[in-house]
Amino acid sequence: MLKDSDFFKSCDVPGPTKEAIRAIILYKSDVKNTDSVVDIGCGTGGITCEFAQRAKDVTSIDINSEAIEITQKNLNKFSLGGNVKLIQDDGANALKNIDNIDIAIVGGSGKKLEEILELIDLKLNSKGRIIITAILVDTKVEAVNKLKELNYNPSIMEVNISNGRVLNRGIMMMSENPIAIISAKKH
Ligand code: SAH
Repeated sequence: MLKDSDFFKSCDVPGPTKEAIRAIILYKSDVKNTDSVVDIGCGTGGITCEFAQRAKDVTSIDINSEAIEITQKNLNKFSLGGNVKLIQDDGANALKNIDNIDIAIVGGSGKKLEEILELIDLKLNSKGRIIITAILVDTKVEAVNKLKELNYNPSIMEVNISNGRVLNRGIMMMSENPIAIISAKKH
């Protein structure tokens, strides 16, 4: 796993998704070196950089040009990117031109989550996996309900990670924001 502190960050781009969360996403995705992955709302490339090391190819999309630039910088930093395509566009728009998806990660969708999930469902291969990370309660509910409507059997896991800071007088546990990981598999 890459370390959070090794990523380039930007005050205008959220991320990277924390290491422990990336690890759970990797395990939930059951990624193989034959899989084609899309990362919608790639932010700083936290998730893109992990999948680039393990999947066949990764297509990463972000509406914000600065996110695309910083994802490229992080790929370069970790000597990755040979199998990564970056697209600056709205996820709902970019997905129209993408087929043959084995794993779809949605890390950001604005107000377009339902449309994005509908498109993913159309493009996702049999046994394909969808994983959504959500911080807003509303996004969590919307994601679960939309997946149900699309005939998936979604699971939702709320994760609260605290990392210890080892100080001279003891260990202080510092909590990170709670986040939900919603996942589902196509029949
Ligand atoms: N997982 C990322 C962080 C994601 S932050 C990491 O590890 O760095 C969410 C991102 O979603 C933001 O960069 C935002 O610009 C992007 N986003 C929001 N709505 C979007 C949309 N409709 N299409 C594409 N990207 C979108």
